[in-house]
Amino acid sequence: MAFTDELTFFIKAGDGGHGVERWLREKFRDKGGPAGGNGGKGGDLYVTAVRNTHLLDKYAHKTEFRAENGESGSNRSQHGKGGEDLIIEFPVGTILTDIDTEKRYELLKEGDTILLLKGGQGGLGNEFFKGPDNQQPLETTDGKPGQSGTFHVELELIADAGFVGFPNAGKSSLLNALTNARSKVGAYEFTTLEPALGSLHGFVLADIPGLIEGASDGKGLGHKFLKHIRRTRMILHCISLEEENVLQRYDAIRKELGDFDQQLLSRPELVILTKTDEVSEEVISNAKNELSGKDVVTVSVLDDELVKKLSEEIFKRL
Ligand code: GDP
Ligand code: MG
Repeated sequence: MAFTDELTFFIKAGDGGHGVERWLREKFRDKGGPAGGNGGKGGDLYVTAVRNTHLLDKYAHKTEFRAENGESGSNRSQHGKGGEDLIIEFPVGTILTDIDTEKRYELLKEGDTILLLKGGQGGLGNEFFKGPDNQQPLETTDGKPGQSGTFHVELELIADAGFVGFPNAGKSSLLNALTNARSKVGAYEFTTLEPALGSLHGFVLADIPGLIEGASDGKGLGHKFLKHIRRTRMILHCISLEEENVLQRYDAIRKELGDFDQQLLSRPELVILTKTDEVSEEVISNAKNELSGKDVVTVSVLDDELVKKLSEEIFKRL
């Protein structure tokens, strides 16, 4: 399933129902008193944040959302029924931007609910205009249209920590080993086509797919997902110990992060040297030396003890 993280919708609150002109039917009078009811109010339109990162996929083929219109008034002074409010669910981390006004609405926490668009007031029936000087009012007013707009809807995942690194660094394997996620693992570049999320003691870890050099200029898939890391509190920077020059790999990824957003460079970072089982002790200690001064841990997904230790190290820093 594709991961959809940007969509555009026309969204509209309900129109108010119209007021109507009606008359009481009375014997011997062709028109009794005025008895046209008011229109009902149009439904309001709310957006609310839920924990489901794949919700936008469900909306991929939708182009609009509309709350229910109010009904028109009717005879015997009956007011029209109000339209039902519509509450649209979006994943936590969704940002809606009204394309015309550029106003932004952010759904950052689960349960955040925003009144996005107000339903129109119902119109007035002729009975409303009845007065001492106006026994046979003909006036009615129409319901007001509900507010509407075209919204750009974008998902910025909110993860507590995000894995970055070159393809094959072992990010997906680690996410799976540390959490309940099932991220695609493979010895190919770009095996992860969507950001996968996993939960570690209630904290959300995100696998940010395939950063490669140039990602910040729009090369590769990494760019599309780089924005997801903006709001993570911690960066988990994975480097495979199979790499010849870990410092150069480290710097290349840091450069991509910095080119994308300078602020990412001051985010707390844990460097994770992966695949210890593939290399000698000497390679491990050389790599640690190259990265001296940085916060470094080593791990192999084949070693349960090391995975457990890594999870404690991450947890401690969150
Ligand atoms: P990603 O591209 O960074 O997400 O990397 P993956 O998690 O997909 O891993 C790339 C390859 O390295 C896969 O074939 C994994 O099975 C392998 N791999 C990952 N971690 C380890 C490890 O600790 N030890 C060994 N031997 N292989 C690993
Ligand atoms: Mg991967």
